[in-house]
Amino acid sequence: MTVRMVIVGNGMAGARLAGELHARGGDRKVTVLGAEPHRAYNRIMLSTLLAGRIGEPDVELTEAAGHGIDLRTGVPVTAVDRAAREVHTADGERIGYDHLVLATGSRAVVPPLPGVDPVDLPARVVPFRTLDDCRRIIAAANGARSALVLGGGLLGLEAARGLATRGLATTVVHPRGHLMERQLDPAAGAVLADTLAGLGVTVQLAVPATGMATDANGVRLDLADGRSLHADLLVLSCGVRPDTALAEAAGLTVRRGVVVDDRLRTNDRCVSAIGDCAEHDGVLTGLVAPAWAQARVLAEVLTGTDPLARYQPRPVVTRLKAAGIDLAAMGDATSDGSCEELTFADPARGTYARLRIRDERLTGAILLGDNPAVGTVIQLFDRGHPVPADRRALLLGRALGAADAAPAASPALMPDAATVCQCNTVTKGALVRCWRSGARTVDAMVAATRAGTGCGGCRDAVGGIVDWLSQAESMEVTR
Ligand SMILES: Cc1cc2nc3c(=O)[nH]c(=O)nc-3n(C[C@H](O)[C@H](O)[C@H](O)COP(=O)(O)OP(=O)(O)OC[C@H]3O[C@@H](n4cnc5c(N)ncnc54)[C@H](O)[C@@H]3O)c2cc1C
Repeated sequence: MTVRMVIVGNGMAGARLAGELHARGGDRKVTVLGAEPHRAYNRIMLSTLLAGRIGEPDVELTEAAGHGIDLRTGVPVTAVDRAAREVHTADGERIGYDHLVLATGSRAVVPPLPGVDPVDLPARVVPFRTLDDCRRIIAAANGARSALVLGGGLLGLEAARGLATRGLATTVVHPRGHLMERQLDPAAGAVLADTLAGLGVTVQLAVPATGMATDANGVRLDLADGRSLHADLLVLSCGVRPDTALAEAAGLTVRRGVVVDDRLRTNDRCVSAIGDCAEHDGVLTGLVAPAWAQARVLAEVLTGTDPLARYQPRPVVTRLKAAGIDLAAMGDATSDGSCEELTFADPARGTYARLRIRDERLTGAILLGDNPAVGTVIQLFDRGHPVPADRRALLLGRALGAADAAPAASPALMPDAATVCQCNTVTKGALVRCWRSGARTVDAMVAATRAGTGCGGCRDAVGGIVDWLSQAESMEVTR
C-alpha cells in the first residue's frame, strides 16, 4: 500500500526532507504544503540578497519541485486532526496522512512597542525573515537615505550591513551592552562596532526602544534614554519564535518548540517535527545545519533505509555573512575562569581573537578580522581534536611550524573526517571520493555533495580541495 506522507512547511527543512525522501525512492506519496507563495528558497542567503550581491534566482532551492513530489505553495495548513489523520488547509481541503511532518519554522518577533501593530505594520517598518520581507525592505530602501535596525544580533547586523551597502546611513539600536551578546564577549563586540562604523553603520548600545511612530516623512523610534531617532525605514530584527501554533492546537507536546526525540518523533508516533519549530533535548536550533541533519535522519527512519538512524546535535559555528567583516564564533563566549584563555586584540586593525581551551581541546573561540587560521580553528572545535602546542599560531593566524601544523592548514594535511561544509556536513573524505568518481570542477563537486549550497562560506575551501587534487593528479601523470 502506498504510504501517504504530508510535510507542513516548504522552508529549508521541509524542502530538504522532500528531496531526501525522493532520493531514497520507494512507494510513497509525499505532499508538501507551504504557506509562502514561492517555491522553496535559501532563507540564509536573504542577507546577501538584501546586500544586492546576488539576485532572486540565486536563492531558489530546486529540491522539492518537479521530482514526483506533490508540492502546493501558498497553501497554509490551518489544523491537524490527529484522530482522523488529516490536515485541513486554508482553501478547505482535507488531506489524509499516514505520517505527518511539521516543518513550520520560526516567525520573526515583533516587539510589543506602543505604536506597533504586529498584524498591520506600516510599509516603512519591516521584519526580516521571509523573501517577501526582503522584497519589502529593498523596495523601501530604494530612494531612501537612512535606515534604523532594531536588534544587534547576527541578522540585524547582516541587514544593517546590507542597507549600508545600498548607500543608506544606517543605525543599529540594541538594548544590550554589546553586539551579538549570545556569541561575543564585550571586547569582541566593541571591535565589531568599530568595524561597522568604518563601513557606514552606527551602533547605539544599551538603549531599549520604547515606542515607534510613522508619518509621510519617515519613522521615529523613541528610546528609553529620552532620545528619538528618525529614518526613512525601520527593520525589526528582534529574534525569532518557533511556529508551534498548529502543534499546540493539535495537542502535541510543546515547550519552547515541538518536543521531539532522537528519531524526531513527537508524542504522537505518526507525527514528527524538524527544523526551527522542533525542540530536541531541550534545545531549539534556529540554524540550517541541524535542520538539514534532522531532515536526513528522518528520511532514513521513515523510508526504512536506516531505521536505527538517530539525530545527534553537533557543535555550532556562527559566521557573519556581511561584506568586509570576517567573524566566526563558536562554543561558549563567556569566561568562567575554569579554562585556559588566550586573547589577542588589535582594535585599530579590527582584529580580535579569543580561544578557550580545556584539556587541550577548544571549548569556544571568537575570531574577528582576517585570520588565516579560521578554518583550522573551526575544524579543531568541530572534531574535538587537541590544539597545537603553539597556540599563538591559532590566535594570530600566522604560519605554523611543521611540528605544530594544524589539521586544516592545507587540504593535504586535513584528515578525511574534517568537515568542509558545515551546513551540509560534507567532509573532505566525501569530496575526495566524489573526485575519484569523476567530478572535476567545483560545480560538479557541489552538485554531487551539496557542499557550498547552504551559506556558501566553504566554496573557497572546496575550490582549494579541487586545486589540490588536480595538482596531485597532474604530478602523478607527469611522473
Ligand atoms: C536573513 C536570515 C539569515 C539567516 N542566516 C543563517 C545562517 O547564516 N546560517 C544558519 O544556519 N541559519 C541562518 N538563518 C536561519 C535559517 O534560515 C533557519 O534556521 C532555517 O530556515 C530553518 O528552516 P525551517 O524549514 O525549519 O524554517 P523556515 O525556513 O522558516 O521554513 C518554515 C516554512 O514553513 C511555513 N509554514 C509555517 N506554518 C505553516 C502552515 N501552517 N502551513 C504551511 N506552511 C507553514 C513557513 O511559511 C515557512 O515557509 C537565517 C535566517 C534568516 C531569516
